[in-house]
Amino acid sequence: MNFAGISTRRKFIQRLSGSIGSSFLTFSIPAFSNGFAFAAEETAVTQEPARKLGIALVGLGKYSTEQLAPALQETQRCKLAGIVTGSPDKAEKWKDKYNIPAKNVYNYQNFDSIKDNPDIDIVYVVLPNSMHAEYTIRAAKAGKHVICEKPMAVSVKECEDMIKACKDANRLLSIGYRLHFEPYNLSMAELSARKTYGAVKVITAKDGMDIEPNVWRLNKKLAGGGPLMDVGIYCVQGVIYTMGANPIAVTAKEGPKTDMKRFKEVEQSLTWQFEFPGGAIANCETSYSQEMNLLRADADRGWFQLEPAYGYKDIKGETSQGKMNLAEVNQQAMQMDDFANCVLQKKKSKVPGEMGLRDVKILTAIYEAARTGKKVQLTNL
Ligand code: NAD
Repeated sequence: MNFAGISTRRKFIQRLSGSIGSSFLTFSIPAFSNGFAFAAEETAVTQEPARKLGIALVGLGKYSTEQLAPALQETQRCKLAGIVTGSPDKAEKWKDKYNIPAKNVYNYQNFDSIKDNPDIDIVYVVLPNSMHAEYTIRAAKAGKHVICEKPMAVSVKECEDMIKACKDANRLLSIGYRLHFEPYNLSMAELSARKTYGAVKVITAKDGMDIEPNVWRLNKKLAGGGPLMDVGIYCVQGVIYTMGANPIAVTAKEGPKTDMKRFKEVEQSLTWQFEFPGGAIANCETSYSQEMNLLRADADRGWFQLEPAYGYKDIKGETSQGKMNLAEVNQQAMQMDDFANCVLQKKKSKVPGEMGLRDVKILTAIYEAARTGKKVQLTNL
């Protein structure tokens, strides 16, 4: 038990929410095997650094444009200092909008010269999945710390190479797992670990959307797979931080393809079941043709759930005793500030490359289980 963590955690919860139910404030926090619960509290209590670390976003698509750049206007410990883009038009717009000097604007060809730029401390890779490995490794070789978006890469080997490159360069690596900084998702881990409703027996996790046609996410080479790689990964994550343990085996089944045009290369939907030590199970589902967004835990004496569970905002939580009422935070700002803190304090992120690697191993095993129809043991996590 970490008693120092209890009071800082309480402070964090109180800071986040004036209206949270009192039961949430009276418990102590056990140490989670996956470090989940402590991710946000450390952001809340560390000292202000002298200077904000500079982040360069690589890839100025939807997520960078609509979430990360706006979040970087709210961060305390880091700021948007540079951009890497293949599009000169975008470069001009971003330079004007965010006051980025020309010397901090790179394209994919001259990106490696970022090594000579002291304004950039952290490179944030926000490219299609199959490009994550190359740009993470190039960033590490340029001496920069790296945040890489999920899924970490499209193969286990790539993840291992990325971890090695960062280790060799003595740079930190983290994955863009923003929900580790989100109070409702943190509560799922806490309610489970505290056994508020007894031991969790069954978890249900679903994440799906109706995807538009002709996007890189439907291209196997660029995406590495379909909805499992993109949104099903949130189910994998949610299940593990709710259970507080890694699964030990998986069975899976690909859903029928009703739209051969959109889903020529990747699965349309997938269901899978995890087994956990002690007999608990998790039933999961992901889809690119159906909207779904649920994380639910059924325990001995009650249940708790989030629906929607994985969004940037408007997450709703409920337990068998009533609604959860937690504060909304800027998840991306908290995630990036936490990583900046890690860099400043030279400590490993709570969402490190190793967690990204674990998840890609699991995604790979789910695909194998679906392809073979056999149970796959997850002995290598
Ligand atoms: P997007 O399609 O909007 O942007 C992709 C960017 O990559 C574009 O700027 C595009 O120009 C650039 N690019 C460079 N080479 C490309 C190529 N060969 N093909 C296609 N695009 C190319 O995608 P996005 O939604 O911003 O997603 C980017 C990454 O961020 C993905 O890995 C995705 O999984 C991740 N993401 C994470 C979250 C989250 O909540 N953590 C949310 C959205 C996306």
